[in-house]
Amino acid sequence: MKLRLEHSWAQLPPLMHTAVAPLPVAAPQCIVFNNALATQLGLDARAVEAHAAQLFSGNALPDDAQPLAMAYAGHQFGGFSPQLGDGRAHLLGELRDLQGQRHDLHLKGSGRTPYSRGGDGRAALGPMLREYVISVAMYALGIPTTRSLAVISTGEAVLREDGPLPGAILVRTAASHLRVGSFQFAASRGDGPALRALIDYTITRHYPDAAHAEVPALALLQQVTERQAQLIAQWLRVGFVHGVMNTDNMALSGETIDYGPCAFLDEYDARKVFSSIDHQGRYAFGNQSLLAQWNLARFAETLLPFIASDERKAEQLALDVLDPFIARVDDLYLQTMRVRLGLASREEGDAALVRQLLSLMQQSAADYTLTLRSLADLVADPEAGLRLQSMLPADPHGTAAWLAAWRVRLQRDPLDTTARRSQMHSMSPAVIPRNHLVEAALSQASLHGDLQPFEALLAAVQRPYDEPADSLFTTPPAPQERVRRTFCGT
Ligand code: AMP
Ligand code: MG
Repeated sequence: MKLRLEHSWAQLPPLMHTAVAPLPVAAPQCIVFNNALATQLGLDARAVEAHAAQLFSGNALPDDAQPLAMAYAGHQFGGFSPQLGDGRAHLLGELRDLQGQRHDLHLKGSGRTPYSRGGDGRAALGPMLREYVISVAMYALGIPTTRSLAVISTGEAVLREDGPLPGAILVRTAASHLRVGSFQFAASRGDGPALRALIDYTITRHYPDAAHAEVPALALLQQVTERQAQLIAQWLRVGFVHGVMNTDNMALSGETIDYGPCAFLDEYDARKVFSSIDHQGRYAFGNQSLLAQWNLARFAETLLPFIASDERKAEQLALDVLDPFIARVDDLYLQTMRVRLGLASREEGDAALVRQLLSLMQQSAADYTLTLRSLADLVADPEAGLRLQSMLPADPHGTAAWLAAWRVRLQRDPLDTTARRSQMHSMSPAVIPRNHLVEAALSQASLHGDLQPFEALLAAVQRPYDEPADSLFTTPPAPQERVRRTFCGT
């Protein structure tokens, strides 16, 4: 079967990839398939689903696949690894969607490659289902993300710390797999022509107007930086903690990529860390804009020779792009919070209003999603103020003062109640993939072969801005249900 695959990545210098085929598996079975995505990709969804187990396991690849593993490097928790790369992943080629946009078609968990280092090249079912459901949720929330086309169980066991687990392959699509680490890979080998080729490729694929700039590499840095600012502001809006923001896990397209131990906040806490391997809290919720800026600085370093021949001058130009990054994320976040507070106008004091609310939430360990969503009810029903008081019990006077200040501010804003409520609902989701529900669904699927809770969760996260019929999906976890630690599962 042919999928109309194209192979632009294979045209990059040989340093950046190795041709290698996925390793066939014992008994592949397609257990989840994303029909809507297949259709958007211009595929015959029914036919592809019917053959997915064979096509995406490596047992009978698409006839037009040219599988390869990509090379990259990366700073992992601040330390540089010059040799990473797809250790358990294969690019089959690229697909153009109905709008003509190019997407990588990529397998994860599909066998060893020259970049596997000590790893087995495989993935466990739980983490692949996790990437599937979280990427579906992110997409539905309106946040740039790689997407998941299918999960194929392999019929083989993978050995992990806690013993054997069912194995699986994730079929994912991405605007591209260009990472900060791709550039670092070429730069750390001093390969100027490879870097030049990467710059040109990234510009052509993602930022075509940068080609016409006076200094295209500088324009590229500017545009990648802006895209990342937009992304991080969206993460902060929905309470997303990526958990492993290493430079190899930052996509230059501005999509969220590589869902490992990621999680969504239940109670608001800017210092929140979930990942079991993030011992220092490097990638805590509230650190994400700082660490994105750190990653962008690593990206900028690889571009310096292409920005100006004088190193000092190149550094200064790059710093001028990177310095405003955190303020930019803060501003974009403030814009989303204004919408959530029901404001169409802008005033100087809005930032303080937002800060005070977050501080009240932090003190009360209030549920981030629920508290912000409930503000829309307060607009129409003044009695609902009591509800907010009950959500923010730690400082009743502070909460009352905040409510009063907010109401005064609303009076100076032009929106009518109906428009205001719908605006607020459009930015404050009711449903996020809550950690306790994700964990329960994954363990039910992985340990008992029961996909029903997973499918119910999947359906709920697909309509995040609607009130779901089942309150299971909007209810925060009871204290004993709270998930405090998440794992990579690699
Ligand atoms: P990650 O933490 O998933 O971003 O992966 C970091 C690096 O480890 C990447 O180069 C992966 O390809 C590689 N890796 C992760 N798990 C495995 C595995 N089971 N086998 C081989 N390589 C792996
Ligand atoms: Mg990764």
